[in-house]
Amino acid sequence: MARFLVTGGAGYVGSHCVLALVERGDDVVVIDNLRQGHRAAVPAGVPLIEADLADRAAVASVFAGPRFDGVLHFAALSLVGESMREPLRYMAENVGNTLWLADAAVRAGCRSFVMSSTAALFGTPDTIPIDEGQPLRPASAYGESKLMAERGLDWAERVHGLNSAALRYFNAAGADPAGRLGEDHDPETHLIPLAINAALGLGPELTVFGTDYPTPDGTCLRDYVHVTDLADAHLRVLDVLASGRSGRWNIGNGRGYSVKEVIAAVERIGGRPVPHRIGPRRDGDPAALVASSAKLAADTGWTPRFAALDDIVATAWAWRVAHPRGYGDRRPVEAAA
Ligand code: UDP
Repeated sequence: MARFLVTGGAGYVGSHCVLALVERGDDVVVIDNLRQGHRAAVPAGVPLIEADLADRAAVASVFAGPRFDGVLHFAALSLVGESMREPLRYMAENVGNTLWLADAAVRAGCRSFVMSSTAALFGTPDTIPIDEGQPLRPASAYGESKLMAERGLDWAERVHGLNSAALRYFNAAGADPAGRLGEDHDPETHLIPLAINAALGLGPELTVFGTDYPTPDGTCLRDYVHVTDLADAHLRVLDVLASGRSGRWNIGNGRGYSVKEVIAAVERIGGRPVPHRIGPRRDGDPAALVASSAKLAADTGWTPRFAALDDIVATAWAWRVAHPRGYGDRRPVEAAA
């Protein structure tokens, strides 16, 4: 049994990872400012410290307790469009919070640090699928902020011996297959929940952002990876870090689905149409983003359990049907013993 600090543990990917850690018997402490996170997404019995990472005194007091074996850092600003309106805030907050957190971890004698990174590091890629050797040239302030944070962690390893992992997520999607957790953002900007909301009449009709891309059906291709598979990857890279190695890994299913294919999958799973209209391209959207996860597979044995788009959509659909208002005032989830 080990003890982990999870920032953003009340958020979408973070909460699925907390559940996975608790289920394998680890001790977890969550720190989350609850700006995007939900108290009800934190399993009963897991301490939740409601604080912002910019509050360095609060962070220091968390590290003053019993030693953590590792830090998993999910909390961040993560909207590409917003980052192009507020680039300096994105870089200042994401980089500052990550590196001051790493500094606190180093001072407390913690040796393992995992951060959420992104496909946005690659901008418009030269070739598909995207492996770790592709040039890093973010096309947004969000992507740049994650690259700067990764580079800061490189220095923390070189100077302080802090082992670190960055997992570059492609499109996180789906929900806990047992229905305990799901995706609940405000505002929601992601394709799958927006399409589901439109189909259920819980949100406006979907706008398809562009049909003139150089792809088979003219809409963008993205690599949707199940959030439970992402959580599993975090557990696996913790083992790599514990063995004294660091790494940077891309993570996705290795297959791209178009916006039109996602709409068709939601209609298939939900058994009803997704009201939608065709709109202009969204600024900064590359035509295709598909990951090679070969390095992650080779280093950790990871393979996606929910690789099929229909499985991903089915778990997201089930959660939304059960929770039309998202977390609302739900009670905290019960982790299986
Ligand atoms: N998308 C869309 N309409 C929407 C939201 C997204 O057509 O209302 C498209 C978007 O252009 C992209 C894909 O769906 O090609 C996935 O977008 P999302 O925002 O979910 O994730 P991103 O790829 O930006 O990380």
